[in-house]
Amino acid sequence: MGRGNPYAGLVRRLQATWLSGKTRPMEYRVAQLEALGRFLDEKKQDILEATASDMGKVRGGPGTGGPHGQRSRGAALPTALPTHVDKNLVTQLDSAFIRKDPYGVVLIIAPWNCPIYVILVPLIGAIAAGNCVIVKPSEMTKNSERLVAEALPSYLDNDCFAVVMAGVQETTRLLENKFDYIFFTGSSSMGRIVMAAAAKHLTPVTLELGGKNPCYVSDTCDVQNVARRVAWGRFFNMGQTCIAPDYVLCSVEMQEKLLPALREAITDFYGPKPQESPDFGRIVGDKHFQRVQMLLRSGRAVIGGQTDEKERYIAPTVLVDVLPSDPIMQEEIFGPVLPIVTVANVDEAIDFINSRERPLVVYAFSSDDKVVNQVLERTSSGGFCGNDTLMHVTLTSLPFGGIGNSGLGRYHGKFTFDTFTHHRGCLHRGMGREALIALRYPPYSQQKLGL
Ligand code: NAD
Repeated sequence: MGRGNPYAGLVRRLQATWLSGKTRPMEYRVAQLEALGRFLDEKKQDILEATASDMGKVRGGPGTGGPHGQRSRGAALPTALPTHVDKNLVTQLDSAFIRKDPYGVVLIIAPWNCPIYVILVPLIGAIAAGNCVIVKPSEMTKNSERLVAEALPSYLDNDCFAVVMAGVQETTRLLENKFDYIFFTGSSSMGRIVMAAAAKHLTPVTLELGGKNPCYVSDTCDVQNVARRVAWGRFFNMGQTCIAPDYVLCSVEMQEKLLPALREAITDFYGPKPQESPDFGRIVGDKHFQRVQMLLRSGRAVIGGQTDEKERYIAPTVLVDVLPSDPIMQEEIFGPVLPIVTVANVDEAIDFINSRERPLVVYAFSSDDKVVNQVLERTSSGGFCGNDTLMHVTLTSLPFGGIGNSGLGRYHGKFTFDTFTHHRGCLHRGMGREALIALRYPPYSQQKLGL
């Protein structure tokens, strides 16, 4: 690679800036973070309008709250200073420390489903850690992509930060370049492509991917509360959320109680005609609409099920009689459809979860803490949330990331800073005291070897 690649010049320019050391001083990083903060403040309305129109004119979708929450912590640069570490006998008089070095030139690739959040949150960490950054928003959400590409460069230092507008073919070319770190958010299948491209240069990656998040509902719980919490998590952003509960696992008896409670919750949230609700948007594109519509053929719709192709509308839907082998149980739904799979008990639910790819999050509902803990203990997933949905993501004190098929690495809060930081182990010795260390040099006499 190199000659002929349309992005080689841009990458070289950022590499030159990186090598100049411009992004390393704390004052520089803080100034850039403050500029990013001004972007968020001054463009807040534009961001809300762009994301709302990209996601079907919906209110209360993924806006600026996340980046705002992360910004103050990023600006504090809490862990940027070197950490001094314990020493052994022969290094007692020396300096041993871990330096928090930036990686260099970082590429951030974002999906469409919360188009601003998934760009800005990693960007904050990458800047705080002192990197140069190329950001590639999703081409699917045109308004958000344009806003980021047009407005962000007028706030940030263009020697160090750039926005690339690219579809699949262009992103493939972009990925031919050698980056020092790649932070990818998107589907598990694209994650594999990105990791393969990164492997050519041995570039480290964070992969924030998707998957099917199970939601176990035990027989002992407040059904109304569970229904509201599950419906909110499933239908928020029309189900186009990586941490949405993808399917419910519960007993036949619980299913009977849950269905009327889910119907009530959906009507409370979106009214009798969700298509007219200002709080319920649309599927992002035709391809995704057709994909989700096909998935509706699994099982039987007992709530919702209506679709309107012209508007890319799919009603909040609950499916029953779903078999584990049905198409809807083979892929991440990423739409407003909630299948219920019945299981005999918590053990069967745990076996079901463990027989599949590791999810981004496992949800468990029970008024008995022992049951929640049992699901936590015996499953493996990127994150976990007991007795609610989505809320774990609001805590910047928790690492956020997947495991196995749902991703690699973690971010949010201080973890974002760590992700974009190389922990460089350093020992700085004095020039003297040679006699003390002469034992280590050959020739190794019997005496030196202690024989
Ligand atoms: P996607 O994988 O189709 O696209 C993500 C990004 O990759 C886009 O910017 C796209 O332009 C780019 N891309 C597409 N094809 C590519 C290729 N061949 N090579 C390189 N880059 C390519 O994902 P999407 O449909 O935009 O987003 C939905 C997915 O993202 C879901 O699976 C969801 O779970 C996941 N997601 C995960 C998180 C998380 O934090 N774990 C957050 C949001 C979304």
